[in-house]
Amino acid sequence: MTVSQSFDFDDIVVGAGHNGLVAAAYLARAGRSVLVVEAADHVGGAAISAEVFPGVGARLSKYSYLVSLLPEQVRQELGMTLTTVKRAVSSFTPSPENPDLAITIPQSDPEELRKRITEFTGSSRDAQAWLEFYTRTERIAKIVFPTLTQPLVSKEDMRELINDPNDWNDFFVRPLGEVIEASISNGTLRGIILTDALIGTFADAHDLSLRQNICFLYHVIGNGTGTWDVPVGGMGQVTGQLEDIATAAGAVIQTGVEVTKLEEITGGIRVQAGKRDWTARNVLLNATPSVLAELFGDPAPIIDIASGGAQIKVNMLLSRLPKLRSGASSEAFNGTFHINEGYQQLIDAFQAAQGGALPNPLPAEIYCHSLTDPSILSTELQELGVHTLTLFALHTPYELFARSNNPITKDQALHAVLATLNSVLAEPIENCLFTGPDGNLCIEVNTTVDIENNLNIASGNIFHSPLDWPWAQSDSEIGSWGVETSRENVYLCGSGAARGGGVSGIPGHNAAKAILNRAANSEGISTFY
Ligand SMILES: Cc1cc2nc3c(=O)[nH]c(=O)nc-3n(C[C@H](O)[C@H](O)[C@H](O)COP(=O)(O)OP(=O)(O)OC[C@H]3O[C@@H](n4cnc5c(N)ncnc54)[C@H](O)[C@@H]3O)c2cc1C
Repeated sequence: MTVSQSFDFDDIVVGAGHNGLVAAAYLARAGRSVLVVEAADHVGGAAISAEVFPGVGARLSKYSYLVSLLPEQVRQELGMTLTTVKRAVSSFTPSPENPDLAITIPQSDPEELRKRITEFTGSSRDAQAWLEFYTRTERIAKIVFPTLTQPLVSKEDMRELINDPNDWNDFFVRPLGEVIEASISNGTLRGIILTDALIGTFADAHDLSLRQNICFLYHVIGNGTGTWDVPVGGMGQVTGQLEDIATAAGAVIQTGVEVTKLEEITGGIRVQAGKRDWTARNVLLNATPSVLAELFGDPAPIIDIASGGAQIKVNMLLSRLPKLRSGASSEAFNGTFHINEGYQQLIDAFQAAQGGALPNPLPAEIYCHSLTDPSILSTELQELGVHTLTLFALHTPYELFARSNNPITKDQALHAVLATLNSVLAEPIENCLFTGPDGNLCIEVNTTVDIENNLNIASGNIFHSPLDWPWAQSDSEIGSWGVETSRENVYLCGSGAARGGGVSGIPGHNAAKAILNRAANSEGISTFY
C-alpha cells in the first residue's frame, strides 16, 4: 500500500454506492490507500437488498432490481462471482384495448417469437419487423458497449464505428418514435419497444432533444446483448461482493459518515464530515453532480421537469400471484409485464404529466423476482407460496409530488398504482397482498420525493442526472474518461458521470482508470491491469 506522505489517503471515495465500491476496489488493488465514506448506515446506495417489511423474511431489491450493464470485463477483473439468471420470458403484455388478450415475447427463440406476434397481430409483418429491429440494436450493442470502458471518442468516431448510415440515422439522429413507427404497426408492440426509452427518462417518443433515444440505447446495449437479468440473491449480492472485494484489497469503508464540505488544498482535497476531516490526493464523488456542487459551495445545477426523476417504484409481497384477465399462467410474471404501456397510452401519459396531472391510466411494469430466484425469501415464506412483486411506474415526474400548490400525495400515487395493476387482473391485487406481523399489508411506494430523500438524489432521478450519448460532448473531452471535473483532483465516479446510469460499475471503473493512468504518467509507474 502506498500511503502518500502528505495526505491521509491517496483517494477518498464519497459514497459507497456500487460505483464507489468498484472504484475503491480497483484503486486499493493497485496498492493505493483508499477511504470510502458513506452517509447511510449501510453500503449500496440504490443497489441494495433490504427487509422492506419489518419482521417478514423477504430481502427485496428495494430500488434497482435487474442487471444488464455491468460489464463482464469488470466482473472478471474484480473476481466477482455474481450469478445472474435469465428470466423465463422477455415480456408479457395485455392488449391496452382488451386486457383479455395478451402477448408473450420469449427470451431468445425467433420461431416462437414469430408465432406469438403473428397470432397476436393477425399478420406476420410485425414479427419480421421486430426481428429486424432487434438485429439492428444488437449490432449497435456489440459496437457501442465495449467503448464504455474506454476513453471517450468523438461523435464522428462513433459514427464511423457504427458504420451504417441507416442505423446511425434511425437510432442516433431521428427521434426514436419515427423509427418505431416506420418499423412496427401494432401499438402494443410499439409500446413495448418505447418503454426502454422511458425508464429513467421523462420524454416523448418524438422529443427533439433525443433523450429518449439515449435512454433506449443504454437499455439495449448491456454486455452486447441488452438482456436484463436477475441477480441471484438480489441487488445486495452485487454490492455485498463489491464491498468484500474492496475491503479485502485494503480499502477502509466507514458508514454513517456524511460528507458536508469539500475544499481544494495544495495538490489535493480536504474532505469534511461534520467535525471530522481527512485529506487526500484525489476525491471521487459517488454522489450526484448536485451534491458535488453543494459540497464545494458552487451553484446547484438546474434541474427541470425534463432532467428530473419521473418514476415510482413499488415493492410488494403477495400471499399468492393474482389471476389474470387473459387467463395466462404465472409465466406472465416471469419477465417484464407491461401494463397500460401501449404506444398511444405512453404518449398520452407523457402529455398528461407534462400538463401537471398524474397519468390515468398509469403506465407501469411489474415483475416477480421470486419466480426466478426464490432465495430472497425465507424458507417459511417459500413454503407458504409467497411471492414478491415489483412495480415501476413511468411518467410520474418529481414536479407533481414536490410542487407547493396541490401536490400529488403518496396516497393518490398508491391508488393510481393499484388501479393500473387491477386493470389487467381478474381479481383485485388487494386480495393477494401479504399481511406482515404488524398487521399491515406488504406494499411500499417510493415516489421520486422518497428516492430524493432516501438516496440524496436531487429530484429522485434514478440515474442521478440525464444520460448522455456515449461520446465526448466537446472536443476537450475526447480521450478523457468522462469522470473528470473542473477541479484537477476531483472525479465523479457515480451514475452522474458520462456513461453512468444503471447498475454498471462503469463510472467507478472509469474514475479509477483515470486516476491510475494519471498516476502512472506523472510518477512513471504502471498500476493498472
Ligand atoms: C427505484 C430505482 C430502480 C432502479 N432500477 C434499476 C435496475 O433495475 N437496473 C439498473 O441497472 N439500474 C436501476 N436503477 C439505477 C441504478 O440503481 C443507479 O443508477 C445506480 O445504482 C447508481 O449507483 P451509484 O453507485 O452511481 O450511486 P448510488 O447508488 O446513488 O450511491 C451513491 C451513494 O452516495 C451516498 N452519498 C450521497 N451523498 C453523500 C454524502 N454527502 N456523504 C456521503 N455519502 C453520500 C448515498 O448515500 C449513496 O449510498 C434504479 C434506480 C432506482 C432509484
